[in-house]
Amino acid sequence: MPRLPAHIQIYSDESLESYLLRLCQANYFDSFYDFALELKHLLWEQESGAAGGLPTELAAINIYHAQQDSGRRSQALFLVEKMLELKPFTLLDITFKHGTSVDLYQRATVSYQNHIIPRHYLRQNSIPICPVCLQGEQPYIRYLWHLEPVKACVEHNCKLVECCPRCNETLNYMESELITHCFCGFDLRKCEQEPADAKSYWQLNPEAFSAFGDCSFSEKLAVLSLLEQLASDKNQEVLLREGIDFFSRLLEERISEQLTLATKPLSKLSFRTLSAGLIDELSKVSNLPQGLISGVIKAILIKALDTPKTSLGCLGDSLLSPRECAFLLQSSVNDIYRLYETGVLSPAIRLPSKQTIQSYQTIFRLQDIAGFTLSCSSFMAVTSSR
Ligand SMILES: [Zn+2]
Ligand SMILES: [Zn+2]
Repeated sequence: MPRLPAHIQIYSDESLESYLLRLCQANYFDSFYDFALELKHLLWEQESGAAGGLPTELAAINIYHAQQDSGRRSQALFLVEKMLELKPFTLLDITFKHGTSVDLYQRATVSYQNHIIPRHYLRQNSIPICPVCLQGEQPYIRYLWHLEPVKACVEHNCKLVECCPRCNETLNYMESELITHCFCGFDLRKCEQEPADAKSYWQLNPEAFSAFGDCSFSEKLAVLSLLEQLASDKNQEVLLREGIDFFSRLLEERISEQLTLATKPLSKLSFRTLSAGLIDELSKVSNLPQGLISGVIKAILIKALDTPKTSLGCLGDSLLSPRECAFLLQSSVNDIYRLYETGVLSPAIRLPSKQTIQSYQTIFRLQDIAGFTLSCSSFMAVTSSR
């Protein structure tokens, strides 16, 4: 196995691009392009197929950028690890990999170690830095700086710097191929340290997510992504402080707005229409904390079982699809089909025999499903988790 002459330490919270860039510089290459060509050449000698999986552009090197050839990309990085005499998967461990949630509904995710990150949270054009972190003996880029909602360095309690104070250009080490300096030559370690502000509320306050239980980092990102989707114009701090009440209020508002527009009896309308797709919106975000899900389910059950009758009927008369039933019961669509086939759940509308029910087809009565949910042990598990 050929070897690269200089080896450097790899940090467990480093980005892949940062490590490769530092490695390139430690081996005295003029540019990352030259370094990548050399790597490809060395790989070619080992395993011709894998060499093709490695791009020459630093900003494109991470695994999540690779589509059909992501297998070859991982293989190439695996062989680079071997070349560097690293333990297997140490390099792969600091990549952003494709998330495994491929459900029709779920938004794309990437993963870094055991964290699941909504893909749209990966910064595209600029990577800010913490000037104090860069003052360390071995300056390197933290993977966290690649994430859009990360606005501050919690360790140093300061804002991340997005633009060079001298030339005002946005910082991106993958473009400049410089870790401690801007394109213009300014030493970023000399940036003034500004205290973190309200935008970092979620990062700086450990109690910010307490309404949803004890949340992991991935769950926090999922909550932020959902809140942005549901209330883009609102202050993050206000939404997080409101917790479950925000969802109850949102449900209430949506239903009353839809009821004013309704012309058909509610027994002919879907709950999806009446709640403006609230369950669908929640299902699109993977990794939401159980405390949030159970809070929303409770809010829906209360509305379903206790709404005054109007001239068009009551909310409980509206219809649910198997997918929405699965959400309320916290089970799978297949479970709902089984409950239907065994006669435990009966459809509210007559279906032609032999017709296959589609997962989005609204056929079950909200009130029936709400009652059934309360009778299930899974519901007790959901509520006692709060
Ligand atoms: Zn820092
Ligand atoms: Zn500059």
